[in-house]
Amino acid sequence: MSTQDSGFGGIPTSAVLETGFDEAGRHASREPHVAEAPALVSTPFERPLPRTIAIANQKGGVGKTTTAVNLGACLAELGYRVLVVDLDPQGNASTGLGINIRDLQSSMYDVILNDLPLEDCVEGTAVRNLFVAPAALDLAGAEIELVPAFSREMRLRRALDAVRNDYDYMLIDCPPSLGLLTVNGLAAASEVIVPIQCEYYALEGLGQLLRNVQLVQRNLNPGLELSAMVLVMYDARTKLADQVVREVRDHFGEKVCHSIVPRTVRLSEAPSFGQPIITFDPTSRGSIAYRNLATEVSGGAARRTG
Ligand code: ADP
Ligand code: MG
Repeated sequence: MSTQDSGFGGIPTSAVLETGFDEAGRHASREPHVAEAPALVSTPFERPLPRTIAIANQKGGVGKTTTAVNLGACLAELGYRVLVVDLDPQGNASTGLGINIRDLQSSMYDVILNDLPLEDCVEGTAVRNLFVAPAALDLAGAEIELVPAFSREMRLRRALDAVRNDYDYMLIDCPPSLGLLTVNGLAAASEVIVPIQCEYYALEGLGQLLRNVQLVQRNLNPGLELSAMVLVMYDARTKLADQVVREVRDHFGEKVCHSIVPRTVRLSEAPSFGQPIITFDPTSRGSIAYRNLATEVSGGAARRTG
């Protein structure tokens, strides 16, 4: 790979590649396969259960929450026991799963700042096997209140350790920043999944995220692995989307999930009804895409729950 590559959004590809995450066997670009079902066999994304996956990208509006909620719902539909941990003070994952965050007795703020046992704030959802540890605006204060706190980067990890065996998947919806909350998310996870918008500037800032992942690996969580990139908001009508898909696949090879999530209005409408796409519109393209993604990420690993 030439260091002269210009990459996307003026970001030299070398800035991304420097981080050393491109070593996995690369393969020629594949055509996008929106809504095409992957086979139910083991995939490069399969890992032993239980899995704790941080959904991270420091940019806002790139599909982190949509992916946490809908990948979580689809994994639950496959029979896995799933906890979505809302680590964003916006509380979008919580409201998107039907929680009224104004009425919360306790939330992730209390877990991270006041050592509340995580199980005490977990709420059920309309989807069987799917649970959420909700967040509300007070979590914004945690970013500052954590600064002088003892073991400030490991608060979430400790909280999750106590419940790790209660769930097959814990998906951590990180906030759009690289601050202490995201560091807590990365320190608590065994894997990172990065959603990437099929748009211009898609790769901008990614180098920074990947460097942070490495910093957390080196200093806090040696077991952390960047396991997958998920292409989202794919618009088949634009040539640019295909160009981004090719570029991301060229850079990240087998780290890129085969399943691609299309841009659809239904996916953006579902959260305002407090539902994941599979209950809001079960046969929509968004449902099919996130079901495929769940199958691919899980690789058909043996379920612990029925
Ligand atoms: P983030 O958590 O990274 O800030 P979100 O998941 O909240 O991003 O997505 C940002 C906005 O884009 C939301 O309004 C969401 O409903 C919408 N959105 C996300 N994914 C899609 C998609 N595939 N198609 C259409 N709209 C989407
Ligand atoms: Mg979000």
